[in-house]
Amino acid sequence: MTEDLNPDNKEVTTHSGMVAIVGRPNVGKSTLLNHLIEQKISITSRKPQTTRHQIMGVDTRDGYQIIFVDTPGLHKKEARAINRYMNRAAYSALAGIDAVVFVVDGMQWTDDDDLVLEKLRSSSCPTVLAINKIDKFREKEKLLPYIEQVSKKMNFDAIFPLSALRNINVKELRQKLQGYLPNGDFIVSEDYLTDKSERFLTAEIIREKIMRTMGDELPYSMTVSIERFKPNLRGVVEINAVVYVERSGQKRILIGSQGKKLKQIGKAAREDIEILLDNKVFLEIWVKIKSGWADDERTLRNLGYDSET
Ligand code: GDP
Ligand code: MG
Repeated sequence: MTEDLNPDNKEVTTHSGMVAIVGRPNVGKSTLLNHLIEQKISITSRKPQTTRHQIMGVDTRDGYQIIFVDTPGLHKKEARAINRYMNRAAYSALAGIDAVVFVVDGMQWTDDDDLVLEKLRSSSCPTVLAINKIDKFREKEKLLPYIEQVSKKMNFDAIFPLSALRNINVKELRQKLQGYLPNGDFIVSEDYLTDKSERFLTAEIIREKIMRTMGDELPYSMTVSIERFKPNLRGVVEINAVVYVERSGQKRILIGSQGKKLKQIGKAAREDIEILLDNKVFLEIWVKIKSGWADDERTLRNLGYDSET
């Protein structure tokens, strides 16, 4: 006897589409993405401009598949090549998507938020405003008047006060977004989580640890390149990473006295990479000076910041 899994012979409809997460740096976009898909993909840190690439995360559940694009922050200054690159990457994220989540930091609306808003006006797809970090609100009674105030800025399809970090109202946002997806087959396979390679994520983890360890001492004039990524005969993944900084002073600070800082960074990074790869890892990090790399578009391309993507 065969079992009929679909006894009413109903057609099973699936929905799928793309959702962009936009907002100025440090408002919590990456944190929100991680909680929307319940998996740590996009790195986060207290420093702005942690995310330089468009990182895709995919959430497939209950017949819905959302492909999220985590965009780099949008910047006013385009003086340096790295910022020009980041701006291009951010704006191209708005093409061909089904909904936008515009994230802002609590009730601190800034000129940069207005700048993002201007970019969104030209897009015709539904836009949801996510007022993030409500866990930090002391004066809760100010929220409703604030919502009323910002709702006049644009015709938002919905406004969600939420906390990405504490997972408040994130599920509700996900359900709302599912409602914007057109009918259609899944775009990628159901177990697909991200388009980024393990190699890329490894570099991102190292960058995250450097930023967290260094605080304000190192600005974003730093990049990480993976020179070697290979399992050895004993099954340990051997990774050689090079951190490029702009000046010898930065190199000194990054290494620390008797190499202590770099050792601390390496240990923290290795622990996270081992979780990512589910494998033992041998990690070596070198620091090199690449003078003025952030100003030179060709050097950027050589390091993998491709402006075409
Ligand atoms: P992005 O630059 O927009 O991607 O921001 P991140 O996701 O990297 O977050 C920036 C900082 O804000 C990090 O220190 C996060 O831990 C913090 N953050 C993000 N969401 C929340 C939240 O809901 N509440 C609080 N208190 N902090 C948050
Ligand atoms: Mg980010």
